[in-house]
Amino acid sequence: MTEGRNRESLTLGVDLGGTKVETSLIDKTGYILASHRRPTQPDKGPYGIIADIIECVKNCLGEASESAQSLGIGMAGQIDKDTGMVRFAPNLGWRNIPLQARLEEALGLPVVVSNDVRAATYGEWLYGAGQGVDDLVCVFVGTGVGGGIVSGGRLLEGCNNTVGELGHMTIVTNGRQCHCRNRGCLEAYAGGWAIAERGQEAVRSDPQAGQPLIAIAGGIEQISAATVTKAYSNGDSLAQNIVEETAEYLAAGVVGIVNAFNPCVLVLGGGVIHGLPEYASMVEHIVRLNALEAAVKNLRIVTSVLGNKAGVIGAATLARHKFQKDE
Ligand SMILES: [Zn+2]
Repeated sequence: MTEGRNRESLTLGVDLGGTKVETSLIDKTGYILASHRRPTQPDKGPYGIIADIIECVKNCLGEASESAQSLGIGMAGQIDKDTGMVRFAPNLGWRNIPLQARLEEALGLPVVVSNDVRAATYGEWLYGAGQGVDDLVCVFVGTGVGGGIVSGGRLLEGCNNTVGELGHMTIVTNGRQCHCRNRGCLEAYAGGWAIAERGQEAVRSDPQAGQPLIAIAGGIEQISAATVTKAYSNGDSLAQNIVEETAEYLAAGVVGIVNAFNPCVLVLGGGVIHGLPEYASMVEHIVRLNALEAAVKNLRIVTSVLGNKAGVIGAATLARHKFQKDE
């Protein structure tokens, strides 16, 4: 392992996603010493998945022949801050699952459970694109849209620990139906699932113009955000319209965020941005035209530096700062 790393004080980070569980062993500089991953199998139910997480952690520690002092886990959903109970995780169908208590009991370590994109924001803040600033907002655009807010050097949590649900701000009244109960949310236009829906609708309304998208996807129903990105990169004009509209919707959300929180750095990340990094410059162009001048004067809009590692690094660091206070 790298010389000079502090191996005395290691922390585990876990990113529990809809398709995989990733566990990493991380030192105090945010460096990943070992990683282990396995697929998430939602049909096993919450306790089957928790058993898989425990297995994944043990494998990670075993491969590194190391021990850890605490564990942080991030997952999509609403978490009770005091108990680490998962109140609601729609993508896994969990309600009121005592994740923190189960992991602490099985692993004998203190555990902190966090929302996944808030953990990723913490990672980007301390070790990624937001290093050195006290005011930062991360917007992650994947299947859904979410993020985190650092204001005045503090990661915001809110009254019920739900800060960061940036995808559910209304950008179009009475607009497209969202997966939450509202209509017209940012996510209902710019989330990966919504880009797929909008792509399919565009092709249905103009099947001839949609031929390149259908050819890439294999069928209208199979058109996804990734299909749109691929067709855009091939120069397809229908895909270009969808991408430009998506950038406008994203920019509408970012203008609101920038005006409300006045960050020094706004980080764009997540699978959709990673798949088409041009989104960042398209969004930035519109934001600089439309947001308040004072709010964008010193603003930098950048893409995520840690990519899909932000979650594990951030979750581990949240645990380190909660339980390993001398560091
Ligand atoms: Zn919504």
